[in-house]
Amino acid sequence: MQAFFAARQASRCNFLKPDQRTADARGGHNGLICFATLVPPVVHAYYADHFILPLPEGHRFPMAKYGRLRERIAADLPQVRLGQALPVSDGELALVHTPVYISAIQHGTLSAAAQREIGFPWSPAMAERARRSVGATVQACRDAMAGQGLAANLAGGTHHAYADKGSGFCVFNDAAVAARLMQAEHARRHRAGGLLRVAIVDLDVHQGNGTARIFATDESVFTLSLHGARNFPFRKEPGDLDVELPDGTGDAAYLEALERALEELEQRFDPGLVIYLAGADPHEGDRLGRLKLSFDGLEARDRRVMDWAWQRRIPLAFTMAGGYGLDMEATVQVQVNTYRTALDYHRRWHGPPRPDGSATSAGEPRWHNAAP
Ligand SMILES: [Zn+2]
Repeated sequence: MQAFFAARQASRCNFLKPDQRTADARGGHNGLICFATLVPPVVHAYYADHFILPLPEGHRFPMAKYGRLRERIAADLPQVRLGQALPVSDGELALVHTPVYISAIQHGTLSAAAQREIGFPWSPAMAERARRSVGATVQACRDAMAGQGLAANLAGGTHHAYADKGSGFCVFNDAAVAARLMQAEHARRHRAGGLLRVAIVDLDVHQGNGTARIFATDESVFTLSLHGARNFPFRKEPGDLDVELPDGTGDAAYLEALERALEELEQRFDPGLVIYLAGADPHEGDRLGRLKLSFDGLEARDRRVMDWAWQRRIPLAFTMAGGYGLDMEATVQVQVNTYRTALDYHRRWHGPPRPDGSATSAGEPRWHNAAP
Protein backbone atom coordinates (compact mmCIF):
# COMPACT_ATOMS: atom_id res chain seq x y z
CA MET A 1 0.00 0.00 0.00
CA GLN A 2 2.88 2.36 0.68
CA ALA A 3 3.95 2.26 -2.96
CA PHE A 4 0.41 3.08 -4.03
CA PHE A 5 0.30 5.90 -1.51
CA ALA A 6 3.54 7.33 -2.88
CA ALA A 7 2.22 7.11 -6.43
CA ARG A 8 -0.94 8.96 -5.43
CA GLN A 9 1.12 11.60 -3.68
CA ALA A 10 3.19 12.01 -6.82
CA SER A 11 0.05 12.65 -8.83
CA ARG A 12 -0.95 15.43 -6.43
CA CYS A 13 1.89 17.78 -7.34
CA ASN A 14 -0.53 20.67 -7.78
CA PHE A 15 -0.10 21.18 -4.03
CA LEU A 16 3.60 21.91 -4.36
CA LYS A 17 5.84 24.59 -5.79
CA PRO A 18 8.28 23.36 -8.47
CA ASP A 19 11.27 23.82 -6.18
CA GLN A 20 9.68 21.43 -3.71
CA ARG A 21 9.91 18.61 -6.25
CA THR A 22 12.97 16.54 -6.78
CA ALA A 23 13.82 14.29 -9.69
CA ASP A 24 13.86 10.71 -8.52
CA ALA A 25 13.22 7.69 -10.68
CA ARG A 26 11.62 5.93 -7.71
CA GLY A 27 8.67 8.33 -7.85
CA GLY A 28 7.23 6.70 -10.92
CA HIS A 29 5.40 9.83 -12.16
CA ASN A 30 7.41 11.19 -15.06
CA GLY A 31 10.47 10.68 -12.91
CA LEU A 32 9.21 13.13 -10.31
CA ILE A 33 8.55 12.41 -6.70
CA CYS A 34 6.70 14.95 -4.59
CA PHE A 35 8.37 16.38 -1.53
CA ALA A 36 5.11 15.33 0.16
CA THR A 37 6.37 11.74 0.22
CA LEU A 38 9.27 12.83 2.40
CA VAL A 39 7.39 14.80 5.06
CA PRO A 40 4.80 13.71 7.62
CA PRO A 41 1.36 13.26 6.08
CA VAL A 42 -1.07 16.18 6.12
CA VAL A 43 -4.79 16.45 5.49
CA HIS A 44 -5.49 17.34 1.87
CA ALA A 45 -8.31 19.84 1.37
CA TYR A 46 -9.54 21.23 -1.94
CA TYR A 47 -11.11 24.60 -2.71
CA ALA A 48 -12.81 26.46 -5.55
CA ASP A 49 -13.82 29.69 -3.81
CA HIS A 50 -11.60 31.80 -6.07
CA PHE A 51 -14.27 31.42 -8.77
CA ILE A 52 -16.41 34.29 -7.53
CA LEU A 53 -20.14 34.02 -8.10
CA PRO A 54 -21.60 37.41 -8.99
CA LEU A 55 -24.58 37.72 -6.63
CA PRO A 56 -27.00 40.64 -6.43
CA GLU A 57 -26.44 43.06 -3.54
CA GLY A 58 -28.09 41.83 -0.35
CA HIS A 59 -28.29 38.19 -1.54
CA ARG A 60 -28.86 36.00 1.51
CA PHE A 61 -26.26 33.33 0.67
CA PRO A 62 -23.07 33.89 2.74
CA MET A 63 -20.63 33.31 -0.13
CA ALA A 64 -17.77 34.99 1.75
CA LYS A 65 -17.59 32.15 4.28
CA TYR A 66 -15.67 29.90 1.85
CA GLY A 67 -12.81 32.35 1.35
CA ARG A 68 -12.80 33.10 5.06
CA LEU A 69 -12.51 29.39 5.92
CA ARG A 70 -9.56 29.04 3.54
CA GLU A 71 -7.87 32.07 5.18
CA ARG A 72 -8.41 30.68 8.67
CA ILE A 73 -7.08 27.25 7.73
CA ALA A 74 -4.03 28.72 5.98
CA ALA A 75 -3.30 30.84 9.07
CA ASP A 76 -4.12 28.42 11.89
CA LEU A 77 -3.73 24.87 10.55
CA PRO A 78 -0.54 24.51 8.49
CA GLN A 79 -0.93 20.73 8.53
CA VAL A 80 -3.93 21.11 6.20
CA ARG A 81 -2.57 21.24 2.67
CA LEU A 82 -4.81 23.34 0.44
CA GLY A 83 -5.12 22.39 -3.22
CA GLN A 84 -7.09 23.92 -6.05
CA ALA A 85 -9.95 21.68 -7.16
CA LEU A 86 -10.08 20.48 -10.75
CA PRO A 87 -13.40 20.54 -12.64
CA VAL A 88 -15.24 17.30 -13.31
CA SER A 89 -16.13 16.40 -16.90
CA ASP A 90 -19.56 16.07 -18.50
CA GLY A 91 -19.11 12.30 -18.45
CA GLU A 92 -18.38 12.28 -14.73
CA LEU A 93 -21.40 14.48 -13.99
CA ALA A 94 -23.51 12.18 -16.17
CA LEU A 95 -22.95 9.35 -13.68
CA VAL A 96 -25.68 11.17 -11.72
CA HIS A 97 -27.09 14.12 -13.68
CA THR A 98 -29.13 14.14 -16.89
CA PRO A 99 -27.40 15.39 -20.05
CA VAL A 100 -30.13 18.02 -20.52
CA TYR A 101 -29.48 19.49 -17.07
CA ILE A 102 -25.67 19.39 -17.45
CA SER A 103 -25.99 21.20 -20.78
CA ALA A 104 -28.37 23.83 -19.34
CA ILE A 105 -25.88 24.63 -16.58
CA GLN A 106 -22.97 24.73 -18.99
CA HIS A 107 -24.61 26.93 -21.60
CA GLY A 108 -26.76 29.12 -19.40
CA THR A 109 -30.10 27.95 -20.79
CA LEU A 110 -31.78 27.33 -17.43
CA SER A 111 -35.27 28.78 -17.16
CA ALA A 112 -35.85 31.65 -14.74
CA ALA A 113 -37.85 29.27 -12.53
CA ALA A 114 -34.96 26.75 -12.46
CA GLN A 115 -32.53 29.50 -11.45
CA ARG A 116 -34.91 30.63 -8.71
CA GLU A 117 -35.10 27.09 -7.37
CA ILE A 118 -31.30 26.91 -7.22
CA GLY A 119 -31.19 30.35 -5.61
CA PHE A 120 -28.26 31.67 -7.67
CA PRO A 121 -28.48 33.56 -10.97
CA TRP A 122 -26.66 31.72 -13.76
CA SER A 123 -23.21 32.97 -14.80
CA PRO A 124 -20.18 31.28 -16.40
CA ALA A 125 -18.48 31.44 -12.99
CA MET A 126 -21.43 29.66 -11.39
CA ALA A 127 -21.09 26.78 -13.89
CA GLU A 128 -17.31 26.55 -13.43
CA ARG A 129 -17.46 26.72 -9.67
CA ALA A 130 -20.15 24.04 -9.53
CA ARG A 131 -17.97 21.66 -11.56
CA ARG A 132 -14.96 22.35 -9.37
CA SER A 133 -16.91 21.95 -6.17
CA VAL A 134 -17.83 18.44 -7.31
CA GLY A 135 -14.19 17.94 -8.36
CA ALA A 136 -13.06 18.87 -4.84
CA THR A 137 -15.16 16.11 -3.30
CA VAL A 138 -13.99 13.63 -5.95
CA GLN A 139 -10.35 14.48 -5.20
CA ALA A 140 -10.95 14.21 -1.46
CA CYS A 141 -12.50 10.75 -1.92
CA ARG A 142 -9.61 9.63 -4.13
CA ASP A 143 -7.05 10.79 -1.59
CA ALA A 144 -8.90 9.22 1.33
CA MET A 145 -9.04 5.89 -0.51
CA ALA A 146 -5.47 6.05 -1.79
CA GLY A 147 -4.00 5.81 1.68
CA GLN A 148 -4.65 9.24 3.19
CA GLY A 149 -7.57 7.88 5.20
CA LEU A 150 -9.11 11.35 5.51
CA ALA A 151 -9.38 14.25 3.05
CA ALA A 152 -11.74 17.16 2.52
CA ASN A 153 -13.54 19.68 0.35
CA LEU A 154 -13.65 23.25 1.70
CA ALA A 155 -17.13 23.56 0.16
CA GLY A 156 -19.46 20.88 -1.23
CA GLY A 157 -22.23 19.02 0.50
CA THR A 158 -24.68 20.19 -2.18
CA HIS A 159 -27.25 17.61 -1.20
CA HIS A 160 -30.43 19.33 -2.45
CA ALA A 161 -29.42 18.83 -6.11
CA TYR A 162 -31.39 16.15 -7.97
CA ALA A 163 -30.38 14.33 -11.15
CA ASP A 164 -32.31 16.76 -13.34
CA LYS A 165 -32.45 19.99 -11.33
CA GLY A 166 -30.74 22.09 -8.72
CA SER A 167 -32.32 23.40 -5.54
CA GLY A 168 -31.54 25.23 -2.30
CA PHE A 169 -28.15 26.73 -3.35
CA CYS A 170 -27.07 23.35 -4.80
CA VAL A 171 -26.24 23.00 -8.52
CA PHE A 172 -24.70 19.52 -8.83
CA ASN A 173 -24.74 16.82 -6.15
CA ASP A 174 -21.05 16.42 -5.28
CA ALA A 175 -21.38 13.47 -2.92
CA ALA A 176 -23.53 11.54 -5.39
CA VAL A 177 -21.15 12.08 -8.32
CA ALA A 178 -18.14 11.24 -6.14
CA ALA A 179 -19.78 8.04 -4.83
CA ARG A 180 -20.58 6.79 -8.34
CA LEU A 181 -17.15 7.76 -9.69
CA MET A 182 -15.33 6.05 -6.81
CA GLN A 183 -17.37 2.91 -7.49
CA ALA A 184 -16.37 3.02 -11.17
CA GLU A 185 -12.68 3.63 -10.39
CA HIS A 186 -12.70 0.90 -7.75
CA ALA A 187 -14.23 -1.57 -10.20
CA ARG A 188 -11.54 -0.76 -12.76
CA ARG A 189 -8.70 -1.20 -10.23
CA HIS A 190 -10.04 -4.26 -8.44
CA ARG A 191 -11.83 -6.36 -11.01
CA ALA A 192 -12.37 -9.18 -8.51
CA GLY A 193 -12.73 -6.86 -5.56
CA GLY A 194 -16.50 -6.52 -5.54
CA LEU A 195 -18.62 -3.42 -5.61
CA LEU A 196 -17.52 -0.46 -3.51
CA ARG A 197 -20.26 0.37 -1.03
CA VAL A 198 -20.52 4.00 0.00
CA ALA A 199 -22.22 5.48 3.08
CA ILE A 200 -23.23 9.13 2.83
CA VAL A 201 -23.51 10.43 6.40
CA ASP A 202 -25.35 13.74 6.09
CA LEU A 203 -25.33 15.77 9.30
CA ASP A 204 -26.27 19.07 7.71
CA VAL A 205 -29.38 20.37 9.48
CA HIS A 206 -31.42 20.09 6.27
CA GLN A 207 -32.43 16.76 4.79
CA GLY A 208 -30.32 15.48 1.89
CA ASN A 209 -33.37 15.16 -0.32
CA GLY A 210 -31.55 15.15 -3.66
CA THR A 211 -29.09 12.51 -2.48
CA ALA A 212 -31.88 10.33 -1.08
CA ARG A 213 -33.79 10.48 -4.36
CA ILE A 214 -30.73 9.78 -6.54
CA PHE A 215 -29.92 6.60 -4.58
CA ALA A 216 -33.49 5.56 -3.79
CA THR A 217 -33.17 2.30 -5.72
CA ASP A 218 -29.40 1.84 -5.39
CA GLU A 219 -28.48 -0.62 -2.65
CA SER A 220 -24.76 0.05 -3.01
CA VAL A 221 -25.04 3.56 -1.50
CA PHE A 222 -26.53 4.09 1.96
CA THR A 223 -27.97 7.54 2.67
CA LEU A 224 -28.18 8.57 6.32
CA SER A 225 -29.55 12.01 7.20
CA LEU A 226 -30.07 13.61 10.63
CA HIS A 227 -32.02 16.83 10.18
CA GLY A 228 -34.53 19.25 11.62
CA ALA A 229 -38.05 17.95 11.14
CA ARG A 230 -39.43 21.42 10.39
CA ASN A 231 -36.57 22.59 8.17
CA PHE A 232 -36.30 22.93 4.41
CA PRO A 233 -36.96 20.83 2.34
CA PHE A 234 -40.57 20.70 3.38
CA ARG A 235 -41.24 17.69 1.16
CA LYS A 236 -38.56 15.25 2.23
CA GLU A 237 -37.43 12.26 0.17
CA PRO A 238 -37.14 8.92 1.94
CA GLY A 239 -33.51 7.94 2.37
CA ASP A 240 -32.13 4.69 3.80
CA LEU A 241 -32.16 6.14 7.31
CA ASP A 242 -33.77 9.48 8.17
CA VAL A 243 -33.73 10.86 11.70
CA GLU A 244 -35.98 13.88 12.22
CA LEU A 245 -35.17 16.12 15.17
CA PRO A 246 -37.50 18.62 16.85
CA ASP A 247 -36.75 22.34 17.00
CA GLY A 248 -34.38 23.25 19.80
CA THR A 249 -32.60 19.86 19.95
CA GLY A 250 -29.42 20.29 22.02
CA ASP A 251 -26.10 18.49 22.31
CA ALA A 252 -27.12 15.50 24.43
CA ALA A 253 -30.23 14.53 22.48
CA TYR A 254 -28.45 15.06 19.16
CA LEU A 255 -25.45 12.93 20.09
CA GLU A 256 -27.72 10.18 21.37
CA ALA A 257 -29.67 10.21 18.09
CA LEU A 258 -26.38 10.08 16.16
CA GLU A 259 -25.19 7.14 18.22
CA ARG A 260 -28.38 5.19 17.49
CA ALA A 261 -28.15 6.07 13.80
CA LEU A 262 -24.55 4.85 13.54
CA GLU A 263 -25.51 1.62 15.30
CA GLU A 264 -28.27 1.06 12.76
CA LEU A 265 -25.95 1.91 9.88
CA GLU A 266 -23.52 -0.67 11.23
CA GLN A 267 -26.21 -3.34 11.35
CA ARG A 268 -27.56 -2.67 7.87
CA PHE A 269 -24.55 -1.73 5.75
CA ASP A 270 -20.86 -2.40 5.29
CA PRO A 271 -19.27 0.65 3.61
CA GLY A 272 -15.85 0.84 1.99
CA LEU A 273 -16.01 4.65 1.87
CA VAL A 274 -17.78 7.27 4.00
CA ILE A 275 -18.67 10.69 2.60
CA TYR A 276 -19.49 12.93 5.56
CA LEU A 277 -21.44 16.19 5.23
CA ALA A 278 -20.27 18.13 8.29
CA GLY A 279 -22.84 20.95 8.08
CA ALA A 280 -22.28 23.86 10.46
CA ASP A 281 -25.98 24.76 10.45
CA PRO A 282 -27.10 22.67 13.47
CA HIS A 283 -25.21 25.30 15.52
CA GLU A 284 -27.26 27.36 17.97
CA GLY A 285 -26.12 30.59 16.29
CA ASP A 286 -27.47 29.59 12.86
CA ARG A 287 -30.17 31.69 11.17
CA LEU A 288 -31.87 28.72 9.52
CA GLY A 289 -30.98 25.67 11.59
CA ARG A 290 -33.61 25.66 14.38
CA LEU A 291 -31.38 23.33 16.47
CA LYS A 292 -29.25 24.30 19.48
CA LEU A 293 -25.92 22.53 19.22
CA SER A 294 -22.96 24.22 20.88
CA PHE A 295 -19.42 24.39 19.50
CA ASP A 296 -18.52 21.51 21.83
CA GLY A 297 -21.53 19.49 20.71
CA LEU A 298 -20.60 19.87 17.05
CA GLU A 299 -17.01 18.95 17.79
CA ALA A 300 -18.24 15.82 19.59
CA ARG A 301 -20.40 15.05 16.55
CA ASP A 302 -17.43 15.30 14.18
CA ARG A 303 -15.29 13.23 16.51
CA ARG A 304 -17.93 10.51 16.73
CA VAL A 305 -18.28 10.18 12.94
CA MET A 306 -14.53 10.23 12.31
CA ASP A 307 -13.95 7.79 15.16
CA TRP A 308 -16.64 5.47 13.81
CA ALA A 309 -14.92 5.37 10.42
CA TRP A 310 -11.44 5.14 11.94
CA GLN A 311 -12.36 2.21 14.20
CA ARG A 312 -13.49 0.31 11.11
CA ARG A 313 -10.60 1.56 8.89
CA ILE A 314 -13.05 3.07 6.43
CA PRO A 315 -11.63 5.99 4.39
CA LEU A 316 -13.63 9.18 4.95
CA ALA A 317 -14.00 12.31 2.82
CA PHE A 318 -15.76 15.26 4.35
CA THR A 319 -17.45 18.36 2.97
CA MET A 320 -18.65 21.53 4.67
CA ALA A 321 -22.31 21.68 3.51
CA GLY A 322 -24.47 24.45 5.04
CA GLY A 323 -23.82 27.17 7.61
CA TYR A 324 -25.75 30.42 7.89
CA GLY A 325 -24.59 31.89 11.17
CA LEU A 326 -25.99 35.21 12.38
CA ASP A 327 -22.28 35.78 12.90
CA MET A 328 -20.41 34.31 9.91
CA GLU A 329 -17.31 33.87 12.05
CA ALA A 330 -19.23 31.39 14.22
CA THR A 331 -20.00 29.26 11.14
CA VAL A 332 -16.35 29.38 10.10
CA GLN A 333 -15.26 28.46 13.63
CA VAL A 334 -17.44 25.33 13.58
CA GLN A 335 -15.77 24.37 10.30
CA VAL A 336 -12.23 25.11 11.52
CA ASN A 337 -12.98 22.86 14.50
CA THR A 338 -13.96 20.08 12.08
CA TYR A 339 -10.51 20.37 10.48
CA ARG A 340 -8.80 20.25 13.88
CA THR A 341 -10.62 17.02 14.66
CA ALA A 342 -9.73 15.67 11.21
CA LEU A 343 -6.04 16.35 11.84
CA ASP A 344 -6.25 14.30 15.00
CA TYR A 345 -7.80 11.35 13.16
CA HIS A 346 -5.46 11.74 10.22
CA ARG A 347 -2.53 11.24 12.61
CA ARG A 348 -4.15 8.01 13.80
CA TRP A 349 -4.37 6.73 10.22
CA HIS A 350 -0.68 7.19 9.76
CA GLY A 351 0.66 6.62 13.25
CA PRO A 352 4.08 7.58 14.56
CA PRO A 353 7.13 6.97 12.35
CA ARG A 354 8.80 3.58 12.73
CA PRO A 355 12.31 3.49 14.24
CA ASP A 356 13.74 2.84 10.74
CA GLY A 357 12.15 6.09 9.52
CA SER A 358 9.49 4.52 7.29
CA ALA A 359 5.92 5.66 7.59
CA THR A 360 3.41 3.43 9.31
CA SER A 361 -0.12 2.73 8.29
CA ALA A 362 -2.46 2.03 11.14
CA GLY A 363 -4.49 -0.37 9.06
CA GLU A 364 -5.37 -1.31 5.52
CA PRO A 365 -8.48 0.46 4.29
CA ARG A 366 -11.41 -1.90 4.31
CA TRP A 367 -11.98 -1.67 0.55
CA HIS A 368 -8.80 -3.67 -0.01
CA ASN A 369 -10.63 -6.58 1.56
CA ALA A 370 -14.02 -6.13 -0.10
CA ALA A 371 -15.69 -9.46 -0.69
CA PRO A 372 -16.31 -10.45 -4.30
ZN1 LIG B 1 -28.12 22.96 5.49
